[in-house]
Parts: sequence; structure tokens; C-alpha cells
Amino acid sequence: APMIEFDRVGFGYPGGASVLHEVSFAVPAGTRTALVGPSGAGKSTLLALVERFYEVSDGAVRLDGTDVRDLPRDALRARLGYVEQEAPVLAGTLRENLLITTPDASDDRLHEVLDEVNLAHLVERTPQGLDVQVGEGGVLLSGGERQRLAIARALLAGPPVLLLDEPTSNLDSRNEVALRRAIDAVAVRRTLLIVAHRLATVVDADQIVVLDGGRVVAVGTHTELSATD
Ligand code: ADP
Ligand code: ADP
Repeated sequence: APMIEFDRVGFGYPGGASVLHEVSFAVPAGTRTALVGPSGAGKSTLLALVERFYEVSDGAVRLDGTDVRDLPRDALRARLGYVEQEAPVLAGTLRENLLITTPDASDDRLHEVLDEVNLAHLVERTPQGLDVQVGEGGVLLSGGERQRLAIARALLAGPPVLLLDEPTSNLDSRNEVALRRAIDAVAVRRTLLIVAHRLATVVDADQIVVLDGGRVVAVGTHTELSATD
């Protein structure tokens, strides 16, 4: 079975109109799929349905062959890392920011995930190490660094699948390269479903799914989709 499968998914927010119609596509294990399309197309909603933050109205979302509605919450949480678009950084230490969802992670593990997303320098350049203050009043993090910190947080528990809503805010070229490298690093041996706002993410994806008005309007590689323009 594919790692993630959308099978004729329909969805409407409670009390609202339908926002997804007959959405079907699969994300094979170990690959990257980029979701693109205009604002309001339903990209973030698809991620929320994998996480069962909301439940489908029609069809099914399957994770490694199992309907997500049949997976207990903790089993689902162990399999998925979710990184929202505007990842919050709490005023507190780097350690506190990382341990929010995985309080029992070891220092070695914290260093490992920071290294994966190119944030090891935050620990190495300050005598406080993991206890350096970040956010308000501490080390100021750029938008790209906040996003990478959120990725590190999502990776801590070791989920095989990462759902990522890329930030729309403009990153400078240094942060853009660092975010791209971080995504490349975390993509190794993991399955990624990314709402893509950046061309680099789209070009690097194994598969691109184009959504418009809650429907899949195209699926293919960047080369395939560029050829049909
Ligand atoms: P995208 O990520 O492609 O910009 P979204 O998934 O955020 O699209 O939104 C799809 C549609 O669902 C839009 O029409 C949006 O207004 C609507 N929508 C998103 N979140 C909610 C919500 N919490 N309640 C009601 N409608 C929502
Ligand atoms: P707002 O009310 O400011 O729009 P929400 O917290 O309702 O913010 O979230 C906006 C959208 O982000 C939701 O419609 C949902 O699609 C997505 N979202 C929020 N939290 C999660 C989550 N934990 N997992 C997946 N998607 C989420």
C-alpha cells in the first residue's frame, strides 16, 4: 500500500460548503509530493485530513493501508509529523521549544534533530547550549529558522511521515537555501507531503498534485506538467 492514499475524498467544514471533491492520489513510501494551487484550493485542508484534525465527509484517507479513522490518536501521532505554516516559537529555551510534543527526548536526540535542520549553530555558538533563550528577549529567529525549528520538533518522535505547510513569507536567499537543505535532509527515508509555495520545493518533488477549487486538476512530475503548459 502507498504510505498515504486519498481515495475519492470529499470534505466540507462544519456548517460550510464542500471544499474538497473526489480527491484521489497516492504518496508512495519514501517519496515527496508537493501540493500546489491557488489560495483556497484546499491544500492545507488535505494535510488536516491526514492528521484527522478533521474527518473526511466522503471517501477515505489511508495511512500505510489503514483508514486514519481506524487508527488510535497516539498511533496516528507516532506516524505523523505536522509542521504548520506559521510555526510558533515560545518565549523560552530552545530545549523547551523542542520538548513541547516529545517531553522525554534525550539531549543526544535533540542535537540530532537540530543538526538535521541546520540549526546546530544555535547550540554551539552559545555557552547555554540547549538552554539558550529563543524567541522574545532571546536569540531572534528568522522566519526560516522558526520553520526549521518546527521541523526539528516534528521529527523528534521519529515519525516516518512529515506533513509540511511551507511559509509564504519571503525568505532571504540564505534562509531559503537552508530550508531547502533541511527539507532534503529530512526527506531521506521519510515520506513527505508538502504544501509548496516555493519553486525549489516543486522542482525537487517526486510528484506534484495541482489542486483548484477542491479538485485535483493535474498530477505529474515537474517535467511532465511543464510540458503540458
Ligand atoms: P489552501 O491551503 O489551498 O489555501 P485551504 O485548505 O486553507 O486552502 O482552504 C480551502 C477552503 O476551505 C477555502 O475556501 C477556505 O476558506 C476554507 N476553509 C479553510 N479553513 C476553514 C475553516 N477552519 N472553516 C471554514 N472554512 C475553512
Ligand atoms: P484560524 O482559526 O486562525 O484559521 P486554525 O487553528 O483554525 O486557525 O487553523 C487554520 C487551518 O489550519 C485549519 O483549517 C486547518 O486546515 C489547519 N490546521 C490547524 N491546526 C492543524 C493541525 N493540528 N493539523 C492539521 N491542520 C491544522
